Amino acid sequence: MSNLPPNRHPFEVQAIQLRSYAYGESDLIVVLFTREYGVIRAMARGVRKARSRMSGLIAPLRCNHFLLKRGRTLHGISQAESIHAFSGLHDDYDRLMAGLAIGELVAQFCQEEDAQPEFYDALLTTLFLLSESSQPRSVLLWFLLYFLESQGFYADWEQCQQCGSDFGGQAYRFQNVIEGGLRCERCKQGPDHRFLTYEQAMALPVYQLAHAPPESTLSEKDLNGLIWNLQQQLQHLAGRELRTFSFLYPNQPVNTTTQRGTSP
Ligand SMILES: [Zn+2]
Repeated sequence: MSNLPPNRHPFEVQAIQLRSYAYGESDLIVVLFTREYGVIRAMARGVRKARSRMSGLIAPLRCNHFLLKRGRTLHGISQAESIHAFSGLHDDYDRLMAGLAIGELVAQFCQEEDAQPEFYDALLTTLFLLSESSQPRSVLLWFLLYFLESQGFYADWEQCQQCGSDFGGQAYRFQNVIEGGLRCERCKQGPDHRFLTYEQAMALPVYQLAHAPPESTLSEKDLNGLIWNLQQQLQHLAGRELRTFSFLYPNQPVNTTTQRGTSP
């Protein structure tokens, strides 16, 4: 049951803009994650014209206060007022790409008109941290682990998800990039397992328990490898490719080996 007001009635939301699509000559359809109603879609009319008053405000990952007019599936944006611009995200390619990847995830997984105020607040905090971070990928990894858990896909990174045995300090760990979680050397059957370096294996539980993104000591390759592994799992869950993630590692091959002991 929708909690939205009747058709054509005005209503107010606080929202983070996740994605947008050009429509017609000058309009934009924007996907908003609202604190009040979860994901909703709205039309910003004329916003791609140079003289539009709203054009600066309708931008990815900005947080605005909106006055909307209820439509059946697409609402109309009557007014927008800035709450947080997150300018630090827009000045830095790595921060922006990490932010857009987060935006695509939320748009993909969070339900329309399903309010999740706690998750909304966590997302806002993540964007604050990301907009000032010198390690945007560390923030992204931290968010991905939190996100999977918040969507019901908790993994215990200290034990094999198949046989339940605890990993000792030096045990080899293999990440299952389809079902998630880790497998021990005996249980890593099939092509969906990626060998983790010792540093990657040690980082996962640290990130999972941290209330803020830890300062990363991982190499760029190790960090990208963990993000890539989680991306595969999320794509499998979504049933489609998460395209913004491909901008995170345009030139470097990531850790896709299934055998232990491969060196960079
Ligand atoms: Zn096992």
